[in-house]
Amino acid sequence: MGKIILTGDRPTGRLHLGHFVGSLRRRVELQNSGLFDKIFIMIADAQALTDNADNPEKIRQNIIEVALDYLSCGIDPAKSTIFIQSQVAELCELAFYYMNLVTVSRLQRNPTVKTEIQMRNFETSIPVGFFTYPISQASDITAFRATTVPAGEDQQPMIEQAREIVRRFNGIYGDTLVEPEILLPDNAACMRLPGTDGKAKMSKSLGNCIYLSDTSEEVRKRVMSMYTDPDHIRVEDPGKVEGNTVFTYLDAFCRPEHFAQYWPDYSSLDELKAHYMRGGLGDVKVKKFLYAILEELLTPIRERRKEWEKDIPAVFDILKRGSEAAREVAAGTLADVRRAMRIDYFDDAELIAEQSRKFQG
Ligand code: ATP
Ligand code: MG
Repeated sequence: MGKIILTGDRPTGRLHLGHFVGSLRRRVELQNSGLFDKIFIMIADAQALTDNADNPEKIRQNIIEVALDYLSCGIDPAKSTIFIQSQVAELCELAFYYMNLVTVSRLQRNPTVKTEIQMRNFETSIPVGFFTYPISQASDITAFRATTVPAGEDQQPMIEQAREIVRRFNGIYGDTLVEPEILLPDNAACMRLPGTDGKAKMSKSLGNCIYLSDTSEEVRKRVMSMYTDPDHIRVEDPGKVEGNTVFTYLDAFCRPEHFAQYWPDYSSLDELKAHYMRGGLGDVKVKKFLYAILEELLTPIRERRKEWEKDIPAVFDILKRGSEAAREVAAGTLADVRRAMRIDYFDDAELIAEQSRKFQG
């Protein structure tokens, strides 16, 4: 069997640099590598509603934002199927059966969900849908028989949960589902890009993001006010690079050729870091370098976005066609699942014959 990708994003806001390094950049590379038979990219609106039930308008407005971000980063609808989760009803049915294979205490142990519950102050009022979203995510992944899920580190517990469900399902009902693997970024800084405020994760919900669609001026402001080393007060002071957001971003985005192009005083990031640690190098200079690198990355993305923004109906059409194609694939898996669970009563000739015999004596 071939290699299949499934990934997605919640339409809770525009996409940011964390998404780009954690998953989006990889997806585009994999899409263009030709190594995968199929690539499914899901706008996870149903999952986003699990913690935004009272704000459906937010989700509705952000569907197109996420789709535009995909297209402007180079997701090509001719090579990848982009679809909207809620339009594939089969995913709910799968999740409903998978719920029987997971215990409440297993869900309670999920470290990402734990952190998210705290972040949202849900401690005493966790919506059941939110609590069970790792199960729903397992159905998203398995519905497309995905072998590979390119995602950031926060998704590791979700993939582990999906693998457990697959093993349990196949163990009880026979070999039906495919066990997925996570594909993490190969660079540590990209596993979990911190926010511009230095907080552990750049996240739409924390408002500490540089968005892929930010203007040049917005990016400049964000970079210039970025969290660095609070003890690096005067230029001559020695500075710390660990936990210094500007350097973490350089770890994520800087390539050796950027020095020749934007800052020929140095030949490598190690050399730059050494100078900063020795003292005598001010934050502003390093921030300007980072800004130049980010602008090089973001300018073509912004330009492609402008083009797509001129034809919004075409973008909706891509999503509609993608959702139809996705639905067909998910329906195929659901049919296999029903057969394996022996709840395909009307297609089950053996059941009808056996029951006839039983009642005829
Ligand atoms: P929300 O706050 O609504 O949860 P989010 O910013 O965390 O939004 P998601 O849609 O939950 O974004 O995540 C989509 C994908 O992007 C996942 O694969 C996730 O691992 C990755 N990702 C999100 N934020 C980061 C980050 N800061 N660093 C690396 N990867 C990230
Ligand atoms: Mg998230």
